[in-house]
Parts: sequence; structure tokens; C-alpha cells
Amino acid sequence: MRRPVIAGNWKLNNAEREAVELVTALKTNLSDVDTVDIVVCPVFTVLAVVHDVLLESNIALGAQNVYWEDAGAFTGEVSAPLLKEIGVEYVIIGHSERRQYFGETNQTVNKKIRAALRHGLVPIVCVGEVLEEREANKTFDVIRRQCEECLAGLNADELKKNIIAYEPVWAIGTGKTATSQQAEEVHKFIRGLLAKMGGKEASEAVRIQYGGSVKPDNIADLMAQPDIDGALVGGASLKADAFIQIVKNSCAVTR
Ligand code: PEP
Repeated sequence: MRRPVIAGNWKLNNAEREAVELVTALKTNLSDVDTVDIVVCPVFTVLAVVHDVLLESNIALGAQNVYWEDAGAFTGEVSAPLLKEIGVEYVIIGHSERRQYFGETNQTVNKKIRAALRHGLVPIVCVGEVLEEREANKTFDVIRRQCEECLAGLNADELKKNIIAYEPVWAIGTGKTATSQQAEEVHKFIRGLLAKMGGKEASEAVRIQYGGSVKPDNIADLMAQPDIDGALVGGASLKADAFIQIVKNSCAVTR
């Protein structure tokens, strides 16, 4: 059985004081959770301080981006070994905001995934269609292409180590959540693609998160779907109460 994973993507929010306050509240209130993996993804500059607060907790640390080279003349970039060195375990790759504003492509996502895996980081690989693509019935074509190109060349063992986050772009930060049925049909489709790419065993091992306006009151419905293995949470991960409730409500779902 796949262990669910709930990750908070803080985006460009929370300086040191807010970050410490938030993770202190999470650490205190989620200490008894042992059936889901919990991850927080702060900005680079507070990763180390958040890591220290999270020592001896059940909450892991993730970054929001990574560069594919390990070191060299790449001004402004941060590499996988540097993240690993300060205790980062997960990294979000190919978020739609990076695709939209920073020129991320399926090809750069593929290079970043390989770098993350080389250094033992768990990639959280984001895919998802924009509204026009959904309305033009192109969702499955878009998802197929993103999965095939982002995960190109990975063998079954490498494939298994990824988390895929299905995030319909029209649902991110908009308050519009995909219905659990809409999400499940895409998750099931992704699992089928993974089976073609790496075999059934690998596809059954990969955790597929849903992301897009996840809130305490919609997480249980989403998590009750057979192919939804957790959530990537943006806005609601900035509020301790909401994120705590999302984690707790997801634990309450029998899968
Ligand atoms: C996200 O940015 O990954 C996200 C899902 O955001 P929100 O939960 O705010 O829609």
C-alpha cells in the first residue's frame, strides 16, 4: 500500500520569524501522526533554520527548485548536493509557476529530476493542464506528453522514487478544486502511463498527489479515491490550523 504524502508549498512566503512560528505549530500539533508523510517546502533562505526546528520531528524538509549541475559558473542557482547537505529530502520540480514565469520546460524538468535522484532527493514532479487545454479536451494529451518527457530515460527503480503531483493549473490558487472524480480520472491515467514506462510494479509504487486549492474540507473526498495518494498544498499550507487539519483529515480516510 502506498503511504500518503501531504506537502506544503510555501512559495515565496514566510521569512524566518513566520517560518519558525509555523513549523513550531506543525511540529507540536502533528507529533502523533504516523500514517502519512508530512513535508514542508520553504524558500531557500530559511531551509536551514526550519531544518533545525524540525529535528526529531515527523515532518520532512523540501525545497521548491533545484539546478541540474552540481557546481560551477551558474550564478544564482542552488544544486542538489547543497540541498542534501543541509537536510533537505524532497524537491518540487516543474511547478506550473516555474513553467509559466521562469521558462521551465519538460526537458529542464527531466534534467532536474535526474540530478535530484543522483543525490538522493525525492522529486515531487508537477504536471497539469491549463484551462484552455481542459476545455479543448486536451487534458490527457498534455499529461501524457509532460509525463513522458519529464520522466524520459528513467528505469523502473528510478521511476519509483518520484512523487508525481497532478496540479490542474486552473485550480491552483483559484479556489476551484477539481472534483474528486475529475482528479481520480487523471491520476488513474497517470498510473497507466507509468505502467507503460516502467512496468506495473513501479507504477503501483509511485505516489501521485493532487494539488489545486486543497482545503481541510475537500481533502477527505480527494484522499478517498484509489489513485490519490496525498496532496501538494499551496495557500492553505501557510496557515498552521488549515495545514494541521488537512493532515489530520487525510489520516482519517480509510484507504
Ligand atoms: C500549488 O501551488 O502547488 C498549489 C496547489 O496551490 P494552492 O493550494 O494555493 O492552489
